[in-house]
Amino acid sequence: MLSVAVVGSGPSGVYSAQALLQQSLVPDVRVHVLDRLPTPYGLVRYGVAPDHEKIKSLQNSLRAVLEDERVTFVGNVGVGGPDGVSPARLTELYHAVVYCVGASADRALAVPGESLPGSYSATRFVSWYSAHPDIGADPFARDALESRSAVVIGVGNVAVDVARILARGADELRTTDVPRAALSALAASRVRDVHIVGRRGPSQARFTTKELRELGALPGARVVVDPAELALDPAYAAPDGLPAVVRRNLEVLRGWSAGGAASGGAASDGAASDGASSDGASDAAGAARRIRLRFFLRPVELLERGGRVAGVRFARTAPDGTGGVRDTGRYEDIEARLVLRAVGYRGVELPGLPFDPVRGTVPHTAGRVLRDGVPSPGEYVAGWIKRGPTGVIGSNRSCAKETVASLLEDAAGLTLRPAAADPLAVLREWGLRPVEWDGWLSIERAEAELGRSLGRGPVKIPDWPGLLAAARDENR
Ligand code: NAP
Repeated sequence: MLSVAVVGSGPSGVYSAQALLQQSLVPDVRVHVLDRLPTPYGLVRYGVAPDHEKIKSLQNSLRAVLEDERVTFVGNVGVGGPDGVSPARLTELYHAVVYCVGASADRALAVPGESLPGSYSATRFVSWYSAHPDIGADPFARDALESRSAVVIGVGNVAVDVARILARGADELRTTDVPRAALSALAASRVRDVHIVGRRGPSQARFTTKELRELGALPGARVVVDPAELALDPAYAAPDGLPAVVRRNLEVLRGWSAGGAASGGAASDGAASDGASSDGASDAAGAARRIRLRFFLRPVELLERGGRVAGVRFARTAPDGTGGVRDTGRYEDIEARLVLRAVGYRGVELPGLPFDPVRGTVPHTAGRVLRDGVPSPGEYVAGWIKRGPTGVIGSNRSCAKETVASLLEDAAGLTLRPAAADPLAVLREWGLRPVEWDGWLSIERAEAELGRSLGRGPVKIPDWPGLLAAARDENR
């Protein structure tokens, strides 16, 4: 018997468990999938946007793994935190531990004014509309969504997600599992202009084409692209030889800048954004909201008025010929009382596990955790904490497979070490109160009931007490 703990029940954790089940080298494997939260699926539950139903439905295949009889879901058990189990103790319980804890923090922008009220990391906004229980109170409802203009800094898929949620009408989100407070706050939102701003050119943007196109398909919103900003990009004029995704992105942007095809009536008005240009009214094309995609603007400062963010000052940049940009000495301010910083995730050190603070990852070789440069017996990593916060969900499958292959190569040695016969009993002795699969099913039923009472499909429970009460409600 090979007894393995996987820490984290997001895609990389579940794919690691799946790889352990699918191999044939070690016939008898038991996998405990631990999670700090009482709910499984990690970023699929708390990161994938609620209107991305198809990606959300990946939960069904993750679920099949967690329901395998050789797998036990162990929620509400933190690892490495002040109230959690230390990595050292965890290795006493299992032959091997695979850390799949993701990259939960946001990268800093490192400009003055970054922490002014009204400036949020996109990860916080995502956590709020995804009902992450750590977010607690409703931070966006009152002030932030009263802004007419919002700036989203960064041109990756997270930037596109948050811009889309800001620009989408709340009515369309009613059919999703968005929590009540977020839905009513979004329904009352006064945001009309959403500026998505990249510091480099369109050919260096990180969003993928499917996600980009969705912006043009939002009813009631119109995408605005300045042709002059596209033309600045040398790759735009000579797209041959570019990666396919970049070529497709450029085509979509070109269509918008030429006043083409999006169902929201996408067109360019060619105007430089001033943030307040469309305040108070829908525009000539009849769209209630506008999404302005901007390029070659590097954020240098968040501007303050009355103790909160009032806008962003950008340095106008120009291509430097090597894929980077140089400042031109010109500046542009975009007014906004809501700023979302979508400049990437960052891994967080897990106390007791080695960490490379520069890369934000755990040092490893082929998934084996390195302590002082040497593989540490029985300790592995997979997912974003192994390779950094890049790639789509499916990228975690091959990443997990590589790690599990290393683990299996080591298995003969690992099983010589003692492991607890009943790790859950030991965790309880240590004062932890795991939520197992039945508890999660009980949460699911509670969310379905909550939704029914509101005339909606399942609606997420957004707080720790609510989740734990639902998990422990034996009558449900
Ligand atoms: P990302 O793809 O790394 O994009 C980060 C963006 O922030 C880039 O445009 C980057 O510009 C910019 N940036 C970084 N530092 C900056 C600074 N100091 N000032 C201004 N801009 C800065 O990160 P992400 O959007 O957080 O996405 C993370 C991963 O999740 C990606 O692999 C993404 O595809 C994935 N994801 C996928 C989906 C989906 O499939 N629907 C949804 C969400 C997330 P530079 O390029 O110039 O550095």
